[in-house]
Amino acid sequence: MFKGAKALNPAVMARCFTVPGADEPNFIEQVGLFVKEAGDHLLETQPNVITKDLLEVIRAPKTVIKFNMPIRRDNGQLEIIEAYRAQHSYHRVPCKGGIRYAADVDQQEVEALASLMTFKCACNDIPFGGSKGGVKVNPKKYSVIELEKITRRYALELSKKGFLGASIDVPAPDMGTGGREMSWIKDTYSYIFGQNDVNAAACITGKPLHQGGIDGRPEATGLGVFYGVRELFSSAAFCQEYGTTVGLKGKSVIIQGYGNVGSWAHKFFEEEGALVTGIIEYNSGVFNEAGLNQKDLLAYWNKNKTFTGYPNATVFEGNHMDIMYKKCDVLIPAAIEKSINKGNMEKIQTKVIAEAANGPMTFSAHKYMASKNVAVIPDLLINAGGVIVSYFEWLKGLEHVRLGRLTKGWERKSKKDLANLLGITGAKLDSIEGPSEKNIVYTALEEIMCTSCKTVFKYSQEHKVNLRVAAYAQTLAKIAQTYKEAGISM
Ligand code: NAD
Repeated sequence: MFKGAKALNPAVMARCFTVPGADEPNFIEQVGLFVKEAGDHLLETQPNVITKDLLEVIRAPKTVIKFNMPIRRDNGQLEIIEAYRAQHSYHRVPCKGGIRYAADVDQQEVEALASLMTFKCACNDIPFGGSKGGVKVNPKKYSVIELEKITRRYALELSKKGFLGASIDVPAPDMGTGGREMSWIKDTYSYIFGQNDVNAAACITGKPLHQGGIDGRPEATGLGVFYGVRELFSSAAFCQEYGTTVGLKGKSVIIQGYGNVGSWAHKFFEEEGALVTGIIEYNSGVFNEAGLNQKDLLAYWNKNKTFTGYPNATVFEGNHMDIMYKKCDVLIPAAIEKSINKGNMEKIQTKVIAEAANGPMTFSAHKYMASKNVAVIPDLLINAGGVIVSYFEWLKGLEHVRLGRLTKGWERKSKKDLANLLGITGAKLDSIEGPSEKNIVYTALEEIMCTSCKTVFKYSQEHKVNLRVAAYAQTLAKIAQTYKEAGISM
């Protein structure tokens, strides 16, 4: 127990430290239940698409490695650190999936996250199999030097074991990691294999721009969530189905988790005119019916790592999770797994849930939300922005050229020629430009997210199933087709 814990009220302690959904199936079992539900729907309604045994082939994670890494800490002591990499599917290669640094990482979690990556990529037509890595550390408890040692050792182990490389398995950031760790991994891999592999830098995505990253990657997941939700709210049929009105302007939004995904989502929803009324972090929360200002709140959070003392909203401590149960139009879980579960599902009062986190809802809660006609926009569909832009970064790495670099001048010239033909002159003509890398990334991401959301919603309407079953059914059908055409068994 940590220092000072005795000072806390026992009821508050129970609420803070109860593992959500602990009495429900674990994460990999939950993913299995989602696959089974959509598989049963396919077997019943389109028996030529998939068979029971093929469904099992698709569900099963294919490879997982676990290793123990000895690390010398700053105080001179040796520590063993547990690490994993799971590859769920090779129906498309390379495999793709983030690396998570968290104290509760375990094998079933990385397998579940790797499975979700396979389904997310197929759902959004991104040509990768799914994978995921995990290192069992709380990064907040290690110095930067220790984290660099851990990360370089992890990259070395993955490389030696054949689990890293632009054509093999391409990691990216996830909870607890970011551009800094991706840089260390790129550097370690390039140092070992660079002389024989001109594509060494494409072994990883989510790198800082200066290290071969891509403009628009940090915000990609939050932006993708926004594009997808905005697309669905622009559909009169969607709004009628789920008892809301068209457009996001004035809609109230509550976000759980104010890290990368949650804080960027806040920015884009605010810019669209939605009111982000509540934010929940692990230690505190804030609520303001008139809307929370993203720039102001994020600056406060980054400086203090708590909302305690934030002046422009009601601050919640101890009971901060209750903000999730306030009425809103859109609830965005953007933190951890199973945050909506049997224990709290009946308290949720929203019409739409956008699963920005991976696996934020248990199977029981999913069934409950379906029975209440709450629109749950599932993780494999709505949080794909990160892997979509990682795909662009991987392509950039293989091409060795910034997106649009070869065509920017030509595009400017052709647009100016066209404007001249139309008689446009002066400042308007001078302002014509070719696209920046960011312009290309944003529009391509928007196109993919909007298309995927429209396609999934259409399927859900045609087959009278909820959005998760629709997303999984379409995804499983695509993977099944790949297997059937390419062959499965040696
Ligand atoms: P992050 O580490 O940047 O942020 C997560 C935030 O959630 C942290 O600020 C943390 O303090 C907070 N948090 C932890 N436990 C909480 C709790 N019980 N209640 C409220 N807040 C809590 O991670 P991220 O990259 O923003 O990822 C968040 C989720 O989105 C994860 O499930 C991740 O797998 C998923 N995701 C991330 C990406 C990406 O590109 N980063 C892509 C797809 C999915």
